[in-house]
Amino acid sequence: MERVLYVGDVFLLHKTPPGHPESPERLKALLNLMKRTKLPDYVEVRSPVKASEEDLFLVHDKEYVEYVKRIIESGGGYLDPDTYASPTSWEPALYAAGTVLHASLKALEGDHWLAFAAVRPPGHHARRSEGRGFCLFNNVAIAAEALRRRGLRVAVVDIDVHWGDGTAYIFYDTDEVLYISTHQDPSTLYPFEGFPYQKGRGKGEGYTVNVPLPPGTGDEGFITAIHEIVLPVLEAYSPQFLLVSAGWDTHWLDPLASLEVTVDGQWEAVSSLVGLAESYGIPVVLALEGGYVNWVVAKSTLNALAAAKEKLFADEKEVKQSIPEDEVEYYLEKVRAELKKYWPL
Ligand SMILES: [Zn+2]
Repeated sequence: MERVLYVGDVFLLHKTPPGHPESPERLKALLNLMKRTKLPDYVEVRSPVKASEEDLFLVHDKEYVEYVKRIIESGGGYLDPDTYASPTSWEPALYAAGTVLHASLKALEGDHWLAFAAVRPPGHHARRSEGRGFCLFNNVAIAAEALRRRGLRVAVVDIDVHWGDGTAYIFYDTDEVLYISTHQDPSTLYPFEGFPYQKGRGKGEGYTVNVPLPPGTGDEGFITAIHEIVLPVLEAYSPQFLLVSAGWDTHWLDPLASLEVTVDGQWEAVSSLVGLAESYGIPVVLALEGGYVNWVVAKSTLNALAAAKEKLFADEKEVKQSIPEDEVEYYLEKVRAELKKYWPL
């Protein structure tokens, strides 16, 4: 089977306090949509896979892993004001990390070339020894590190509306993992960093590529950023494996951010990335990060499985970008100014 969706009820066990946007309802919406929709024949649905604690140590300090475990075993609690671990969060946290890792290693074996790991808790804000921004363990970074240790040139593209500070910092000093992120201007949004001048350090200089976008950016600007910055950098780097941090909170209805991308724009962005992986003949594994409109999480996730092939779902409304394209260009120009020394931009 070429394309695989990993999803399961275990991820509903990660509970968050009432009113928290990162709730089990996000994944329930996906599971419900799957019941109502006939998935294309080329998509196979598989059960999640559990990580070992040693897998977490690929990118996390042992003390931090034990600290999270202790909080959970003692009845749950907050890792930061936004990040809650419930008494039943240990299993889903291990399954979230394990599923992205397993999907990646199976892809490497040639079992499938595209996989979507619909997991929670999300991961891209989790640092080596710090849980933040709804994230306990950095699912994508764990997979990227496992692939790096097997000698692969890995690219992580993060299309969540927030900068994936956890992933960026874990690989800040290496040129063996390229991290590219499109996100809303961090002077207006959590985690309040992820500027173009933050481009890696030492050997890693130039291998963190931050592409902030102004609030109000819609499909037009988002796709321009993918085509003018993300794809040329990826092509020049020529990765052997592509990981995508798939956050759907760029959506125009998302309560946490102010971009205006539609389900159609998200499909188009993912299609560009998947299309590149296809033309390079390299595996691509996407992992769910944010996205807080539940029907968007459901539709864009299933759309991503059909990326570069067909669009299964359209947005409920046609939305036009509310800012002029010039404003997006102005932002992209700042990215080029910082990074043209390293990449053909
Ligand atoms: Zn996000």
